Amino acid sequence: MRVGPGSVMSVRTLQEVIPSVPTSDGAGVRLRRSLGGPHGKRLDPFLMLDEFSSENADDYIAGFPNHPHRGFETVTYMLDGHMLHEDHLGNRGDLKGGDVQWMTAGRGIIHSEMPQQESGRMRGFQLWVNLPAGEKLKPAGYRDIPASEIPVVDLPDGGRAKVIAGTLVVKGLASPGPIQGLTTDPLYLDVDLPAHAAFSHGVKPDYNAFLYVYEGGVAVGPAAASRVLETHSAGVLSTGAHIEVTAGANGARFILLAGRPLHEPVVQYGPFVMNTREEVEQAIRDYQSGALTDY
Ligand code: FE
Repeated sequence: MRVGPGSVMSVRTLQEVIPSVPTSDGAGVRLRRSLGGPHGKRLDPFLMLDEFSSENADDYIAGFPNHPHRGFETVTYMLDGHMLHEDHLGNRGDLKGGDVQWMTAGRGIIHSEMPQQESGRMRGFQLWVNLPAGEKLKPAGYRDIPASEIPVVDLPDGGRAKVIAGTLVVKGLASPGPIQGLTTDPLYLDVDLPAHAAFSHGVKPDYNAFLYVYEGGVAVGPAAASRVLETHSAGVLSTGAHIEVTAGANGARFILLAGRPLHEPVVQYGPFVMNTREEVEQAIRDYQSGALTDY
C-alpha cells in the first residue's frame, strides 16, 4: 500500500551509507564487503554482507576450502555461477543461479564452498545472520532452497521481487518466502526495478533494515526527503513502518533485509560469533580439539 502524506513520518529514511570495500577471503576470493567490513559496522542481527561478482576465474577459483563456523547463520544467494557446498555432516549442496543456501552453524560446522566452474561469471551474496544466546550452541543444520521454491512477485509499479525469507505483501496479497519462523524473523527480498519505478513495503517499526544496491541506483525515503544510494553500497534505514525506494534512470537491482534485533553483546573472532570473550576462546579450543563438530 502506498503511504499517504499524513503518515510520511513513518517512512524510513536513509540514515547511513556503508560503502563496500574490496577485500579477499577464503583461499583468495575477491569480494566486496559492506556490513562487517573495515568500517566495523554491523546492523543487529546482521553481522556481515559480502558481494562476489566477477567474470574472471582468477577472482573466485580458489574458493573457500574447509573452515569452521560457530554461533550464527550463513546465507548464500547465487545470482550467477555454480558453487558446491560440503560439510562435516555429509551435507552436499549444489548451488546454481537463483539458488539459496541457509546454513545454521549453531554449535559448530566445518564446511567448504568451492566454485564448480573454470570460466564465466560468478555472482552472488553471502550474508551472516546472528543467533540469540540460547541458540548459538544448537546442532548445525542447513537448507538448500532451489530457485524454483523462491516466489517471484510482480510489483504494482513495474519490476519484480524474489522472496527468500519472510513475507512480501503486495496489494494485500501475501507471498511467503521459504524461510520463516526464525527468532530474528528476517525479511530478505531481491528487488528488480525498471527506471523510475517505486517500491514500497511495510516493515515492523522496531526492526533494523538495510538495502544493498548491486545494479543501478535508488533514492530512499519519502519523496521530500529522499537520499540517493549508489551501486555497491549498503544503506542503513532509520526506524519506521514503511520502506520507500525509487529506482534511478538506469533502473536498480537491490537486496532488502530487515530483522528483529537481538540486543546482545557480539564478540567475534573470525568465523566464531559469540556473546563473550570466554565463549570465543572456548570455540577456538573446541575447534583445535575437534569438539566443535563432535556432538
Ligand atoms: Fe563458510
